[in-house]
Formats: sequence, structure tokens, C-alpha cells
Amino acid sequence: MPAKIAIIGRPNVGKSTLFNRLVGKRLALVDDTPGVTRDRRPGDARLGDLRFTILDTAGLEEADAASLEGRMRAQTDEAIADADAVLFVIDARAGITPSDSHFANVLRRSDKTVILIANKAEGRSGESGLYEAYSLGFGEPIAMSAEHGEGLADLYQALRPVVDAVEEHEEAALAAEARAAEASLPPGEIAETDVELATDEDGEVVEEEDKGPAAGSAQRPLRVAVVGRPNAGKSTLINRFLGEERLLTGPEAGITRDSISVDWVWRDRHVKMFDTAGIRRKARVQEKLEKLSVADALRAIKFAEVVIVTLDATIPFEKQDLQIIDLVAREGRAVVIAINKWDLIEDHAEAMQRISDATERYLNQIRGVRIVTLSGLHGRGLDKLMDAAFQSYDMWNRRVSTSRLNRWLDGVLVHHPPPAVAGRRIKLRYVTQVKARPPHFVVFCSRPEVLPESYTRYLVNGLRETFNMPGTPIRLSYRKGE
Ligand code: GDP
Ligand code: GDP
Repeated sequence: MPAKIAIIGRPNVGKSTLFNRLVGKRLALVDDTPGVTRDRRPGDARLGDLRFTILDTAGLEEADAASLEGRMRAQTDEAIADADAVLFVIDARAGITPSDSHFANVLRRSDKTVILIANKAEGRSGESGLYEAYSLGFGEPIAMSAEHGEGLADLYQALRPVVDAVEEHEEAALAAEARAAEASLPPGEIAETDVELATDEDGEVVEEEDKGPAAGSAQRPLRVAVVGRPNAGKSTLINRFLGEERLLTGPEAGITRDSISVDWVWRDRHVKMFDTAGIRRKARVQEKLEKLSVADALRAIKFAEVVIVTLDATIPFEKQDLQIIDLVAREGRAVVIAINKWDLIEDHAEAMQRISDATERYLNQIRGVRIVTLSGLHGRGLDKLMDAAFQSYDMWNRRVSTSRLNRWLDGVLVHHPPPAVAGRRIKLRYVTQVKARPPHFVVFCSRPEVLPESYTRYLVNGLRETFNMPGTPIRLSYRKGE
């Protein structure tokens, strides 16, 4: 059975809208009118490659105000008991209400995983509610707009481990069942089961642990997207990876018409690679090949943690390349730049100089990004590339303590204070990290609206250097405070 995820929250925060968004059909009725009764029914949800069952708890009648709390409570308890995890939805525009706090109390007493969603946060409209949401004690809220489909990638990141854990549990249970069934059969008969069991030469079932370090491990795969313009060599690169006997479960694993991802193992680490061209080619879905769209690339980027931007060494940093890099940085993903077809370059030193000049000039937003030269065709530089991918992933996940950040800020204020504008100094009070993946810092500032853009760049570069996050797209925002 797929993972069961309940949507919980007070009326009107957008639960049904989120439900519809995840189920992809207009199953639940969304209505502003109080008193509209809605069914509570499970829906088959999909988000990227995740499949799960979603339980909606909408269906309360506002008119029934006297028993509202009681009914909410009953529904909530039921949904919580059923679910593997809970999406707790609040309205980021409205901020935290007493009803929200009520739900938070109920949820805190349950032992289920709670994912906090600050909905209606399209644009920047929900920012204050987002910060308030921290006070509910469920950690970092996911800023979303169920209506506009924003924040789905963050939701994916949060749900992934939950769905994985349930699936692993299911698989283990099925395998155990199959083993039990087999044990109870008379000798010579073959158990009919979907579950493939590993056997040794004598036909004995081998335990999970005996299959080697890679197989059956509960480790979460690193999600990598390979993007780049046509002909940069993406397919060649991925096929090379897959051909190097690192493949987890056979050459066609995970390769279906729908799927654009493939699993393999690099130095005992699981990797799930998203491709926009190569895997389809491998699956011989030729007709689709011609129609690879930006939307495909964007989808791969959204669901990835690390993006490998593949450039052709003979013509690097063309306009389209820069657009792709900009897209990746704006989506806030960890980045590695792969300069492919290095075998075609004669003067390596000269080419390297050109590339580093170009990165100086164009890649300010991901300053210090790892650039790896390689040849997909000849299989050179692949280990270097994966090393860089894991490194940039680590930096992308970095959390810097508030005390270290403020020691750094003290130094900044001494050596390079913000300028005076209209005769008054702009004051920076305090800095804290509110998010990782990518790192997001908030600076409390007396007059953020007049702080020059160049000073923000200075702060971002300072953070990047001081806390060792080269190449990471860093977010910096301000909150006004005297
Ligand atoms: P529920 O009672 O929690 O199920 O909430 P609904 O899904 O019925 O949504 C309540 C209202 O909020 C509806 O008018 C929705 O259109 C609106 N709404 C839902 N999600 C969003 C969002 O992300 N942004 C904005 N601005 N409105 C939303
Ligand atoms: P994609 O469109 O990005 O998937 O690019 P392909 O993988 O289809 O490669 C486009 C062309 O570049 C093919 O002719 C490949 O053989 C060639 N190619 C790919 N990688 C390399 C490389 O490292 N060196 C050389 N010399 N050619 C390459």
C-alpha cells in the first residue's frame, strides 16, 4: 500500500486546493461559501515520481460553529491515526490564528511526522506568516501556493523520505511474507510471488545484508539532473555512467516512458539521475526526442538537488548556456558545471583561461562554482564530476549557527559598514539562517529599502567566502527592524 498522507488545518487555509493540486483532478469541491459540505475521501496523489494516498479532512460546516472544534478534533484524530505523515496547512497571509495553535497542540501530541505548509504564499505575500509559522514548533515551514502550484519542489523534498520509508517497510514485509510462504511449501514447488529473492548457488535465499553494501541500503539517493543544450553531450555522459557497471538493478531499471530518472550507485552512494534526453533515447522513444522542451529541463531541475550543467568545450558559455545556468541558480539548486568534449581541445591551458574569464564575468550568482573538465565519450573525469556533485550538495545543505553569523556581521560592520543614505546610517542589527537547500539568510535592517544592491552582493559574497559555500546560490533577504 502506498504511503498515506493526511492534510490537516482549519477551514479555508487551502486544504482542498492542495488536495486537488496533488491528485490532479477536481475531486474535492473548492468553495468559499461557508456551509458547503465536502466529502472526505482518499485520493491517489502524485508528485514527481512519488505516489501516495492523500486524505483530505475538508468538509466542515462553518454554520455548525458550536460543535466546530469537536468535529475538527474527531476528523483530525481519525486522519492522524490513519496517516503515515501529516501535511499541516496554515494560511501564510492570515498568520497564526488560535485555531492553528489548537491543531498544532493536537499534532504535537501525536507521534506522526508533521510537515508544516504555509499556504497562499505566492509572490512574497506570505512572508510575515512564514516567519510566524516557525513558532508552531514544527521546524521550517514550506512556503507554498496550492493555487498557483508554487513550492511543490520543496514539498517533494519533504515527502520523499516519508514515502521512501513506507515503501521500504512494505518491501521488507512482502519479502518476509514471500519467504514465509516459500518455507511452508513442499520441497520442489515454486512460490508464486512478485518479489524477487536473491539466491546463492544452492538456491538458498540470501538475506538482504548479504547482497553487498549497495543493495537494500536505506540511504536516500542524491537527486541529480543533467541539463544543457542539445548536443552538449548529456546522453553520452549518462550512458557512460550507466555503462560503468555501477548500475543498481539492470540496464532498463527505472526507464519507462514516463520516467526520466535512473538509479545507480557511485562509490556506495545511491544516485538518482534525471535526464531530459539520454534516457528517453535509451528507451527508444524516438518520437519524443525531437520535442524536448524547456519544461522538461525545468522539471528535472525542480526535482533535483544537484544540477550538472553540461557545456560543450568547443563552444562554452553561449547565450543558451547562460540562460540555463541562470535558471538553475534562480531555482536555488546546487550546481556543478561540466565542460564536456575536453578531448577535442588542443591547448588546455588557453581554454582553461578562457573558461575562468567567462565564469568571472557571467557567473556572479554562483561565484566559485566547481567547473569540471571531462570527456563523456572517453569516460574521463567522471569521478571528479561526481565528487564535485556531492561536495556542492554538502555546501547546499549547510547550516551556519546564529552566533557565528553574528560574529561575522560584527566584523563586517567594523570593516565595511553600510553606507549612509540621506545623511543617516543604515543599521544592520542581526543575521540568522532561516533555511538550507539552498542557504537562506535574513538580515534585520533599519532601512532595507534604501540599501544599495551592491551592498547586498557584498554581504552574499562575504557569507559565501567566510562560511565556505563556493558556487552555492545564496539567498539573502531583509526584515525591517530598528
Ligand atoms: P480548505 O477549507 O482548507 O479546504 O480551503 P480551500 O481549498 O477550499 O480554499 C479556501 C480558499 O482559499 C479558496 O477561495 C481558495 O481558492 C483559496 N486558496 C487556496 N489556496 C490558495 C493559495 O495558494 N493562494 C491564494 N491566494 N488563495 C488560495
Ligand atoms: P545531448 O544532445 O546533449 O544528449 O548530446 P549527445 O550525447 O547526443 O552528444 C552529441 C554529440 O556529441 C554526439 O555526436 C556525441 O558523440 C558527441 N559527444 C558527446 N560527448 C563527447 C565528448 O566527450 N567528446 C567528443 N569528442 N564528442 C562527444
